[in-house]
Amino acid sequence: MASFDPNRFVLEHDQATPKEILRAAYQAFGELTLSFSGAEDVVLIDLALKVAPKEAVHVFALDTGRLHPETYAFIERVREHYGIAIDVRFPDPEAVQALVGEKGLFSFYRDGHQECCGIRKVAPLRARLAGLPMWVTGQRRDQSPGTRSSLQIAEHDHGFGSEASPLYKINPLTHWSSEEVWTYIRMFDVPYNPLHERGFVSIGCEPCTRPTLPGQHEREGRWWWEEQGGKECGLHATNLPSSAPR
Ligand code: SF4
Repeated sequence: MASFDPNRFVLEHDQATPKEILRAAYQAFGELTLSFSGAEDVVLIDLALKVAPKEAVHVFALDTGRLHPETYAFIERVREHYGIAIDVRFPDPEAVQALVGEKGLFSFYRDGHQECCGIRKVAPLRARLAGLPMWVTGQRRDQSPGTRSSLQIAEHDHGFGSEASPLYKINPLTHWSSEEVWTYIRMFDVPYNPLHERGFVSIGCEPCTRPTLPGQHEREGRWWWEEQGGKECGLHATNLPSSAPR
């Protein structure tokens, strides 16, 4: 792959559709590695399989051990529906055991979510992304006004890449609204997590996710006991002004 210039990619494709962005990313990298959270970002899998051969589309999911039963069932349903392998990644059992042994199963309510997310999400993600040139995420600007308002369709991922092994993040849904995502899901009969029918909008781990009321922003259903504005779990730490994992 010739060196990738994210600024140029943004200039050339910022007005393109998510499908066109994925196609351009596939042309640039020769493969697509997708992060699937078990929520509405399944749209990316549907789109990727329309622009790239199945063997060039790599899907992974992070199993924190604390997901809803519905999310586990949904990940399995997506695997069967598309006939793809989903690389499910788990946290280091010793690190989980040490945290739970020392602080219990719900330390995040008391100490904040960063420590638990660091062990259950960020470390497994770092291991999965090691050595990769790119990954595709389902981030959108409208998901979190506090942290994602300046999101770009392509970014240098300084959080997980390094100078020796640069990593780029492609965010094809940057300019889509939640409504556009759901129009696509309905139009193309894309499978979705049944929790969405019960008022869950942004879906994460079971103890840290709750339904939102009409008019509430979707991120208000995540880590609701913490202050608004910095609600990232560390997967997209570069969205935050500080580089500390959050
Ligand atoms: S979302 Fe909650 S349960 Fe899941 S890893 Fe983060 S703090 Fe832990």
